[in-house]
Amino acid sequence: MTGTAPPAARRGTNLPRMGDFNRSVIFDAIRRAPEGCSRVELVEITGLSTQTVSNIARRLLDDDFIVEAGKTSAAGLGKPRTILRLNPVGLYAGGVHIDPAVMTFVLLDLTGQVVAHARHRTPKASDPEHVMSRIRDHVERLVVDSGIAREKIVGLGLAAPGPIDQERGTIVDPPNLHGWHRVPLRDALEDATGLPVLVDKDVTAAAVAETWAGGASGTGSFVFLYLGTGIGAGLALGDELMRGVSGNAGEIGHIVADPDGPPCACGQRGCIAVTITPQAMVEEAERLGVLRAAPHESAPEIDVQFARLCASADAGNAVARGILDLAADRTARAVAVITNLLDVDRVVFGGPFWARLEARYLERVPPRLAEYSATIALRELEVVGTGVGDDVAAVGAASLVLERTFAPTANRLLLQG
Ligand SMILES: [Zn+2]
Repeated sequence: MTGTAPPAARRGTNLPRMGDFNRSVIFDAIRRAPEGCSRVELVEITGLSTQTVSNIARRLLDDDFIVEAGKTSAAGLGKPRTILRLNPVGLYAGGVHIDPAVMTFVLLDLTGQVVAHARHRTPKASDPEHVMSRIRDHVERLVVDSGIAREKIVGLGLAAPGPIDQERGTIVDPPNLHGWHRVPLRDALEDATGLPVLVDKDVTAAAVAETWAGGASGTGSFVFLYLGTGIGAGLALGDELMRGVSGNAGEIGHIVADPDGPPCACGQRGCIAVTITPQAMVEEAERLGVLRAAPHESAPEIDVQFARLCASADAGNAVARGILDLAADRTARAVAVITNLLDVDRVVFGGPFWARLEARYLERVPPRLAEYSATIALRELEVVGTGVGDDVAAVGAASLVLERTFAPTANRLLLQG
């Protein structure tokens, strides 16, 4: 349908752009240097001429995106150099994550730090219009309470369970939000808030958050394993997000995590969707009598039962522990399929269920992943928890705006070439 067109995600909003590729490259180099960067270092890092670096730095200073932050001490030869850093208050981006259970709202400054935050229970998720008006009210309140001038907020990112139709800015029948058939999220939110809105899958947003606010774990190439009501993967290769042709890369629910596992609706056995999702673990726990059977149709119900399962494991219940350990082992096997395919630097875990699994997974997954890794003789595959925290998808939603505004993507180069 749109075979040769640029990805739809890159069109249709009025977000400001950096203007040119070199400018993005310089901005990116400054942003990736925690202590800041001198003009001389920028010349070394980017390969651009001294004159180009100097001109672009001047424009970035004029736009308030960077500041001069003191001088290097005169170690060695040469005169002290002026350090350039991001200006946190240069601009702000808003982010909303709609999870079937909880909606999270954040405002990020230019450095990716959260400056305002709110969390509310998702109203009846089967009624998108009601949810939309609540989102508008919550965004409004967040902006007012933050005291940040509205004109400093350049856009709003929205992360939701996929699949999404990026061209139309809609959610297409997300498996965990019943009744949300082709909800026109982007347009409705742009109308409601007056801000440009970007929509992306929550798992992709989480990976974007890692690249903007995660520190070392968000550099290079990594797989972000998002553990929410569903499980998905965000993919970053060479510091750039991989979204796929329709923006829906990372649907990993039917990768087989255990060939001897329970049957899946897709016809295979032991898919991720029926083995290592919180719902699958809860069902197993009920079957084995660790948990009393309780309703677990909705996301909040699953969350409650899953919390009970983890508490039981922490209290020493061997069967509960066995369920979580098996999930960790199965996770390693499923993740190995992805890491072997993509040959990445690391695996980053995160999402709303991560905190409760972190200790167990960080202990059990790495050795098993190493067993399955095709490249283990060459290098170790790093396994870490997100550097962003529990709100990674909301931070990611806001990071979409920063990414869109500032990241020097190959796509941008092509469009301008
Ligand atoms: Zn399946």
